[in-house]
Amino acid sequence: MDRIDFRSDTVSWPTPAMREAMAHARVGDDVYEEDPTVRRLEDLAAERVGKEAGLFVASGTMGNLAATLVHAGRGDEAILGRESHVFQWEAGGMASLGGVMPHTLENDDDGRMDLDAVEGAVREDDPHLPRTRLLLVENTFGGCGGTALPPEYFAAMREIAERHGLAVHLDGARLFNAAVAQGIDASKLTADVDSVTFCLSKGLCAPVGSVLCGSNEFVAEARRARKRLGGGMRQAGVLAAAGVIALESMISRLAEDHENARLLAEELSGLKGVRVEPSRVQTNIVHFELDASTGLTPEELGRRLQADYGIGMSTYPGNLCRAVTHYWLGKNEVRALVGAVGAILDNR
Ligand SMILES: *Cc1c(COP(=O)(O)O)cnc(C)c1O
Repeated sequence: MDRIDFRSDTVSWPTPAMREAMAHARVGDDVYEEDPTVRRLEDLAAERVGKEAGLFVASGTMGNLAATLVHAGRGDEAILGRESHVFQWEAGGMASLGGVMPHTLENDDDGRMDLDAVEGAVREDDPHLPRTRLLLVENTFGGCGGTALPPEYFAAMREIAERHGLAVHLDGARLFNAAVAQGIDASKLTADVDSVTFCLSKGLCAPVGSVLCGSNEFVAEARRARKRLGGGMRQAGVLAAAGVIALESMISRLAEDHENARLLAEELSGLKGVRVEPSRVQTNIVHFELDASTGLTPEELGRRLQADYGIGMSTYPGNLCRAVTHYWLGKNEVRALVGAVGAILDNR
C-alpha cells in the first residue's frame, strides 16, 4: 500500500500472492455452480467453521441479509444488540427488504446481550404479537472495539434458541480475529450457531467478498436469497482465488495485527490528553477519546492527521477515535501515527 491508513482493515489491499492467484484463477459460471475456484473457496470456508456448506457473497452485509431472509419472514422478529453492525450499519436491510423487525436489546461493553433479557424478549405465541424467529450475534464485536467473545456465550444463546425454536446467526465479519485472540479454532466459536458470515475483505486482505456458511439445506435456501438480492455472480473465481489465499495463509498472522494494536494503545496512553485503555484492546481495533482539556475534537484531529501527515484514521460522534491495524501497517506505521497525534496535541 502506498499510504498509511488506519481507518479500517477494509482498506487493506490484496497481497502480491493474491493478485497472482487472481490472474491465473480457473473460472466458470458460478450461477450454474460451475466455477471451480468459487467451489473450492466455499468448501474451504465451510471446513474452517465446521459447517456443511458455504456460499460466496459480495459482502458481509449481503451474507447477513441473505441469512436473515432464510431464517425469518415478513412480520417476524430478530433479537440483536443495539450496537450490533447489522442494526447500526447495514442500511436497515432486514426491515426494508425482508420485512423483519429488529428487536434490539442493550449490549454490555463487550457486546454481550444479557441472557435473561434475551429470554424475556422472546415473544409468546399470541396473535397480537410478532413471531420471534432469530437471535443475531456478533464476534468480534466491532461497535465495542473488536472484543472477542468466548464460546460459552454462544452456547448460552443456543440453549435459549433451543428452548424457543429460534435460529441463531453469527455476524462473524472478524471471526478469525476472535479465534486467534483466544487461541482457539474458529469452529469452536461457530459450533452453536446455525449460520455464520465472515469477511475475506478485512484483515484477511482479499479485495472483495464474504462467505456465508451453514447446513446444506440452509445454504441451498441462501443461494436463492442471494440471487434475489442480485448477488449471483458469474466468473467470480477471479475474486474467490484471493479468498482461498486469505483462508490458507492470512489467518494465523492476524496475531501480529493484534500485537500492533496493543502497542498502539500503549503508546497512545502515554500522550497527555488521550484516554485509552490498552487492556481493553483484544484484537485489531483501538478506540480512544480526547480529553476536553485538549480543546480538540476527534474530527479536527482526523482532519489534521490526513492533511498534515497523510495518515487516515476514523472518528465517530461521541468523542470517539478509531484506529484499526492490518497487514499493511507495522510497528513503523504505528509509531508514525502516535508521533503525529502527539505533535498535533503539542501544537494546537
Ligand atoms: C464489516 C462488517 C460487516 C459487513 O461487511 P461489508 O462487507 O462491509 O458489508 C458486518 N458486520 C461487522 C461486524 C463488520 O465489521
